[in-house]
Amino acid sequence: TTVVDLTDVTKAYELGGVVEALAGVSLTLLEGSYTAVMGPSGSGKSTLLNLIGALDTPTEGRVVVAGQDVGTATEAERARLRGTEVGFVFQTFNLLPRLTAVDNVALPLVFDGVPRDERTARARELLADVGLDDRTDHLPTELSGGQRQRVAIARALAADPALVLADEPTGNVDTDTGGRVLDIFDDLHARGNTLLLVTHERHVAERAERIVHVKDGELVRVEELPEVDA
Ligand code: ADP
Ligand code: ADP
Repeated sequence: TTVVDLTDVTKAYELGGVVEALAGVSLTLLEGSYTAVMGPSGSGKSTLLNLIGALDTPTEGRVVVAGQDVGTATEAERARLRGTEVGFVFQTFNLLPRLTAVDNVALPLVFDGVPRDERTARARELLADVGLDDRTDHLPTELSGGQRQRVAIARALAADPALVLADEPTGNVDTDTGGRVLDIFDDLHARGNTLLLVTHERHVAERAERIVHVKDGELVRVEELPEVDA
């Protein structure tokens, strides 16, 4: 099954002049695949992720995520897509500072109308999965960077999304915690999640099945990686 399908996608920003952040990009992500996106700063990686995450719409071409055309979807449809089909992990974690770890993780379920007890139970389970069962009632400021990133991953998984998107998930954590974050992605892959991860680190990208190289808004090469035993 195809989870994400981009056909000839162009995204232009008008800022004084016109910047083509993406130009003619086509890309398909199959269910259960693990893909890394690499490229220099300003090459269009975040733009690509934002389109697939339905945070933004293409200027030209088609972006289809979980059967929904992002370009023609209404704002409400895109919000539903973000809420139920896509889990987003940001480099800067984006946790709400006044909510505990468990409440941050449970938050996406509030919009799904899941009852409070059920939300909390699910959030505790997810936090246990990322090794944070002893930190559920801590505020983000009481957690290390790596712990915060693991809370963010747990939150991205709360609504059981088909697709997990991560923008430099190891960018703000030390090497050890970065390794831990990548181990979690390996687990998600093993469980059949579809993963797309943006990184500028080769060793991070090599954990995926293939690397999509972007440059100046174009997809210049797709590199298939040999399978490695965990
Ligand atoms: P990357 O993630 O690879 O660093 P981006 O996708 O953030 O690249 O940016 C690609 C290009 O598009 C850059 O030239 C950037 O300045 C421009 N760009 C990205 N987002 C915007 C925006 N919201 N408004 C104007 N220009 C943007
Ligand atoms: P990174 O590539 O490390 O994620 P960037 O600085 O390239 O970070 O972009 C961060 C966010 O800011 C992106 O999602 C992009 O949409 C936005 N952005 C990037 N460049 C510009 C710009 N020139 N003007 C407005 N927004 C931008």
